[in-house]
Amino acid sequence: MELTVWVVAVAVLALLAGLLLMLAVRGMRGSRGLASGKTISLDRITLRSQCLGLAGRPDRLIKTGGTIIPEEWKSSRVLRPWHRAQMGVYFVLIEEELKTRPPHGFVICGDGTRHRIDNDDRLRAWVLELAGQIRAARSKVSMPIPVDPKPVWCRPCGMRAHCGQASI
Ligand code: SF4
Repeated sequence: MELTVWVVAVAVLALLAGLLLMLAVRGMRGSRGLASGKTISLDRITLRSQCLGLAGRPDRLIKTGGTIIPEEWKSSRVLRPWHRAQMGVYFVLIEEELKTRPPHGFVICGDGTRHRIDNDDRLRAWVLELAGQIRAARSKVSMPIPVDPKPVWCRPCGMRAHCGQASI
């Protein structure tokens, strides 16, 4: 009989400890600005788009309400335009790779403030425009910089045999 009482007491204590732990975790999440929902990735999945030349690894991906919501944590206490652009890139990548269009995401600043970023057409257009500019800049990296050399520079130059801009 006494043993049964002890078993019940231990079970109740374990249950209470579990409840307290759950509330503590929820409190910690709240104070760090984290949302509830099932975490499917913690800085673990790198998303890529070959055709857009984009890649990104969200700090957290949450499955909730039949879609996936990205969260990004920043040490900055202020939301910056490039935080918004980064979230826009995640939206495009999630849609392409995970086949779901997030309605919004959250940037969580250093003080725990949550900034909701809506996945609207304006943000999408801006991100695609930026991606186009980056691709154009990348393609120019391999192009030679036009120069106007004097023959005296080119004559002794060891690169002359391979150079398309030699002046002699
Ligand atoms: S040969 Fe080409 S690389 Fe060499 S000095 Fe002339 S332009 Fe420059």
